[in-house]
Amino acid sequence: MKLTVLADNNTYIDRYYLGEPAVSYYIEDGDCRLLFDAGYSDVFMRNAEKMGIDLSRLTDVVFSHGHNDHTGGFPFLAEKHDLSDVTLTAHPACFGEKYDGGEYIGAPFGRDEAASLCRLRCSKDSVMITDNIMFLGEIPESNDFETRRPGTDPVPDDTALALNTGNGLFIVTGCSHSGICNITERAAELWGESRVAGILGGFHMFEKSRRLEKTIEYFRKRNVRALYPCHCVSFPVKAAMHEALGVREVGSGMALEF
Ligand SMILES: [Zn+2]
Ligand SMILES: [Zn+2]
Repeated sequence: MKLTVLADNNTYIDRYYLGEPAVSYYIEDGDCRLLFDAGYSDVFMRNAEKMGIDLSRLTDVVFSHGHNDHTGGFPFLAEKHDLSDVTLTAHPACFGEKYDGGEYIGAPFGRDEAASLCRLRCSKDSVMITDNIMFLGEIPESNDFETRRPGTDPVPDDTALALNTGNGLFIVTGCSHSGICNITERAAELWGESRVAGILGGFHMFEKSRRLEKTIEYFRKRNVRALYPCHCVSFPVKAAMHEALGVREVGSGMALEF
């Protein structure tokens, strides 16, 4: 299994891929060629081309949730490639309208349009994409420090992928609006696997807070072997995690093999 970061907020020095405040990952597992999130624009496609990754051969697309920094690039993909044989897996609420104040931040297409372009599989439950890749479906709350604040959009569609590496789970998230510890607990429960080989993605954490302290405590207790916070994790939060546990730098072009 191989994972490549097609787009992230960060880029690496001397590697001339593009960055944008969004995420997109490409995962290969046997015959499965999966796009997990499509970024905000066509940046993920431009990077993929430069990396020699052929997106015309995709078998699967999965959305972590409906926000436009995860779904905004999809229309560019649909315009360039025939996706009629591609299976798109997402939570049913992924295609609902979403606003931040007065600004529209939902997907730039609805459920019907998505269904007209590819094979749409909407699921609140977990779905096995391959024998090693699980779409986690809706994430239940399992602690008292990641509860969603009243008055804010709870983003019920927010989910993640859990890859079974054979040597522990590797969790890949979009924004973790549902809480990175809740996601990790759900993955461990569904797979029946307590070892966590790594966690990559946005944790939606910006401030030093009790939540951050509890999250670090949780990662330590869970003995998470590799941490790759990116996208919606601020520098002070990354720095605190680095001091406590050590983190790795993520950027467009990063590749991991399991
Ligand atoms: Zn989001
Ligand atoms: Zn995001």
